[in-house]
Amino acid sequence: MSDVPKTHPRYLSLTLRDTIVAGVEQGITSIHGLIAHGRGEAFDYLIGEATQPFAIEAIHAAAAMLCLAEHPVISVNGNVAALAPEALIQLGQVLNAPLEVNIFHTETGREQKIRAYLLKHGASDVLMPTTEARLSYIDSNRKFVHPDGIFKADVVFVPLEDGDRCEALRKMGKDVVTVDLNPMSRTAKQASITIVDNVVRALPLLCEKIRELSSDATAQNILKKYSNAAVLQKALEHISRSGNGN
Ligand code: ATP
Ligand code: MG
Repeated sequence: MSDVPKTHPRYLSLTLRDTIVAGVEQGITSIHGLIAHGRGEAFDYLIGEATQPFAIEAIHAAAAMLCLAEHPVISVNGNVAALAPEALIQLGQVLNAPLEVNIFHTETGREQKIRAYLLKHGASDVLMPTTEARLSYIDSNRKFVHPDGIFKADVVFVPLEDGDRCEALRKMGKDVVTVDLNPMSRTAKQASITIVDNVVRALPLLCEKIRELSSDATAQNILKKYSNAAVLQKALEHISRSGNGN
């Protein structure tokens, strides 16, 4: 880790950068993941590096959708595994949902390294891609899934998702909950619920909201009122206002 002083105005952002670099060094995060992270940083800067009301609204809806799901599954890639392993495991525990490794760039052993890393941080089990079950509408390596995980899921939680797979999951009739700092990405637009926030801030809040949800009726009510398009519009408006110095 580099010696960023705690008083540095960009301390948190620089610490996260160190964390993702460490992820690459440990073979968990793809080198391409650094580019995705950089794009995320730029949008985080634009939203003010804080959880905004449009993200809170989406977190409420995401909690409701995940609680009502019959078979929710948490998809894990190399960036989120490096940035928030404990929070991912906690989410799996509060939802009683499996974690499943699903990555684009399968450099030798990276899937196994992500699994081992999650187990080391306290996950009880981590599902792996198989050749027994495949997603339709997708050609990349990410089509290989676990028959009892993403393949069977009715709701998939996929932070930092690639647009292609989000589209494939939606076409297969699954709901997708994502966390994506870019409200203009294909993922953000195609997901059922998009939390426009840094995954590091959003995950603990999501766990908290799931614990607080009192009943199915409350969850159904939250979902009825939710519009993802409206939330994305609020995020874009927030970004353009901050560009005007407000
Ligand atoms: P899409 O394929 O959906 O159009 P993309 O090709 O622009 O998106 P990808 O590389 O596929 O981007 O996915 C990375 C996405 O994750 C980007 O939209 C980026 O803003 C976002 N992102 C990166 N780091 C974080 C983070 N820490 N928290 C939340 N989102 C992040
Ligand atoms: Mg993409």
